Amino acid sequence: MAGFNLPPGCSVSDIPGNRPGDDICQVCGLNYDDCQCPECPVCKTHGDPACYKDHGMQFNEWQQGRRREMAEIQYANEQAEKNAADAYNDPRWPGWDGEGEPPENDPDHHN
Ligand SMILES: [Zn+2]
Ligand SMILES: [Zn+2]
Repeated sequence: MAGFNLPPGCSVSDIPGNRPGDDICQVCGLNYDDCQCPECPVCKTHGDPACYKDHGMQFNEWQQGRRREMAEIQYANEQAEKNAADAYNDPRWPGWDGEGEPPENDPDHHN
């Protein structure tokens, strides 16, 4: 979820407890046990997206693949969220969360 206003040099990963999985690498999206991101020569950490912006690091081939996968997953999640929001705002089914089948009381609905 975007929309945080962070001071310069600070990344979302600096905020403890901000994310459900604090042990998930923000660069490759894997648990740190499985993370293969290289160490940043400047701050000696790895898995910090800011290093790729501010410290001249480059995504390697493996990371680029991971990030494509993450983007696809994120896109799918966004679509699902959007669909749920659309369903929720649909006047035909007020309050429906978009999960499963819409309520029965809808004579106009055709699949
Ligand atoms: Zn990583
Ligand atoms: Zn760095």
